[in-house]
Amino acid sequence: MPKVALTTLGCKVNQFETETMEGLFKQKGYEIVPFEEKADFYVINTCSVTSLGDRKSRQIIRRAKRQNEQAIIAVCGCYAQVHPEEIKAIEGVRVVLGTKERSRIVEYVEQAAREDGILDEVGNIMEARDFEDIPLYDMPQRTRAFLKIEDGCQNFCSYCIIPYARGPVKSRHLDKIYAEAKKLVEAGFKEIVLTGIHLGAYGRDLPEDVNLADACREVLKVEGLKRLRLGSLESIELSPELFELIRQDERFCAHLHLPLQAGSDAVLKDMNRHYDTAEFARLIEHVEREVPGVAVSTDIIVGFPGETEEQFQQGLDFVAKMNFSRMHVFPYSRRSGTPAAERKDQIPEPVKKERVHRMQALAASKSEEFHKMFIGKTMRVLFETNTEGITDGLTDNYIRVYTDDEVVCGELYEVRLARLYKDGAFAKVVEKV
Ligand code: SF4
Repeated sequence: MPKVALTTLGCKVNQFETETMEGLFKQKGYEIVPFEEKADFYVINTCSVTSLGDRKSRQIIRRAKRQNEQAIIAVCGCYAQVHPEEIKAIEGVRVVLGTKERSRIVEYVEQAAREDGILDEVGNIMEARDFEDIPLYDMPQRTRAFLKIEDGCQNFCSYCIIPYARGPVKSRHLDKIYAEAKKLVEAGFKEIVLTGIHLGAYGRDLPEDVNLADACREVLKVEGLKRLRLGSLESIELSPELFELIRQDERFCAHLHLPLQAGSDAVLKDMNRHYDTAEFARLIEHVEREVPGVAVSTDIIVGFPGETEEQFQQGLDFVAKMNFSRMHVFPYSRRSGTPAAERKDQIPEPVKKERVHRMQALAASKSEEFHKMFIGKTMRVLFETNTEGITDGLTDNYIRVYTDDEVVCGELYEVRLARLYKDGAFAKVVEKV
């Protein structure tokens, strides 16, 4: 039986896509082995969101080659889509795919094994119009299941390479979403996380008049589902229909990840983001009013070209006024081919680093403030992993909870949050739900 090893860099969409490719190999009788093992075929699903993603992708490709000189190495994903020439120049690479055509991955690696040379199947992603629908064959080895319902983005934020790597918005049909969600719930998953590159744009490309709220309703129709969570969304795309659903259906997790990216209006404008800080604050206020106890997490980029110390300080002041439950802080990463990369006023690395530290310190104190509000409260937790007698999982509003009580991973429990602990809280179990 031929052995194949797959690995993923980057986001949850990539993770989901690797899981679907793994299923395609299993259906053809391949044995899936851990990436660290010697395999006949290696598949590397790359990321290009930062220069670090590119570098790690190259390192992993070289590692696969060291593990088995004779292996067929296939590289796909965002980095391969944007810079296929760089990928092809790495010794050992035999197949290059971009962000489509992954449904034919098995066919391509088998063709590469029969022929000499490099098989380059990276097409023009700007011409891709349909969602590449690969049904799940096998169930993911996780407690929460990701379900990809959309691909692509046409927002063209000035720093972002993703629209060039993923092309225009492509949405999955509602009937397919329902069928996949049902499969996941029947396999025992309690929570489904809907993911996409530009989730809020779901449905814009479909002939029928559907949107993200319709996709959520479709998943919520599945009997036995305990939780539905949304992946990252643009704040300005939150609709009254979505609020209505979150309020009405207690399975809808009170957690929204809404990327702010910058807390200075001038920087937001340069980033080609279509809101200012006042509008963002108004939206968050609305979210907090409509969904009590909601967690709003966010992303921030610091050191965007031309960001002055004063603008960075405005960002700190703005964040200090918000109740973010969690923040992912990134230094700006220059992506060639994007407008921001062409700018002459790049911020020196040491300045970016120092700003990241200051923003991260604020992020840590904001998280702590948020977590403190729930100490003493009873909440539901879906437990995920056990390490040395301590099990951790997430509340519906995304607080990481730890316990030393006996619990089963993959099951929901009612717990009482006792005290702050690590990146969340320590709890005692009240009962199994
Ligand atoms: S919305 Fe902006 S940051 Fe997000 S994927 Fe699209 S272009 Fe990139």
